[in-house]
Amino acid sequence: MVHFGLIGYPLGHSLSPRLHTAALQELKLEGDYELFPVSPLPESARSFGELFERLRSGRLNGLNVTIPHKQSVIAWLDELTPVARSVGAVNTIFRKQERLVGDNTDVPGFIADLKEVMEHGGRSAEPDPKPCTFHALVLGAGGAARAVSFALDYIGWSVTMAARRLEQAEELVKSMKLVNAINQEITVVMLNQSSIGDIKSEIRLVVNTTPLGMAPNVDANPWPNGLTFPQRALVYDLVYNPPETALLRAAKAAGLYTTNGLGMLVEQAALSFERWTGQPAPRQAMRKAVTVI
Ligand code: NAP
Repeated sequence: MVHFGLIGYPLGHSLSPRLHTAALQELKLEGDYELFPVSPLPESARSFGELFERLRSGRLNGLNVTIPHKQSVIAWLDELTPVARSVGAVNTIFRKQERLVGDNTDVPGFIADLKEVMEHGGRSAEPDPKPCTFHALVLGAGGAARAVSFALDYIGWSVTMAARRLEQAEELVKSMKLVNAINQEITVVMLNQSSIGDIKSEIRLVVNTTPLGMAPNVDANPWPNGLTFPQRALVYDLVYNPPETALLRAAKAAGLYTTNGLGMLVEQAALSFERWTGQPAPRQAMRKAVTVI
């Protein structure tokens, strides 16, 4: 019997139990996936202590981590994988011998899904061989923006980050540079019509990492009002509920190829499952379990 779980707060709408339960059932593994809604530290130090004791003793075989704990769990771990160290955030904890290791599967999850999307229909987004056209625009400057920018830089895209608070984006890039997480310069601009308009012709990929458009505020759209989309770009929205956000609807209407965050969600869960069980995750069954939300 294996026991997995998720720590975060709040956890009301998490799809992780469905994903992991489907994987366990498909592989005929006896086990469960429990939600641990634990409020932010320091008030929840006791709950943290109990949960980490369960991990260390093997009574819990793997743990996912989400907002607001992706950074704060680091102090409770013995080791980080190189990717978790570079991104400065952990979404998966597993045990290696007696040590607790923190990993980040959001990064390889995003890369795997982006590659999949580009191979199966997003050809217009393939980077041109010319310099300056291998360019992605990341909307937002929070935790997901950090993982996505790191991932894009890692696979060779140049990145511009657009945020409503320029200083937040500047701080983020500065902290990534401090740990040598990025190879190329990441430019930051204001998330507005004129700043994005100036660089629009170079952009081949737009990734929304803001929560705008997520249910219940389904009419919200991070793309600046009145600005046309870059031609031939792929628009990737990390939001997956609703499956077609206002951003994706508008981009599709402009003739662009679009994709939502469900593929990344499934892939990051599949990679966590593989860290915990050592078995290939049944991605199709996992995807099926969350396709109708
Ligand atoms: P976060 O750390 O809170 O960052 C959100 C970012 O969006 C911040 O830069 C925030 O700016 C910005 N933002 C929020 N409201 C905005 C607005 N009205 N206009 C412009 N910018 C705005 O959250 P996160 O962890 O990065 O997650 C962001 C989204 O990605 C969530 O919807 C999450 O569900 C999704 N996500 C999906 C996956 C997946 O597997 N598909 C994985 C990770 C995250 P301020 O700080 O100024 O508010």
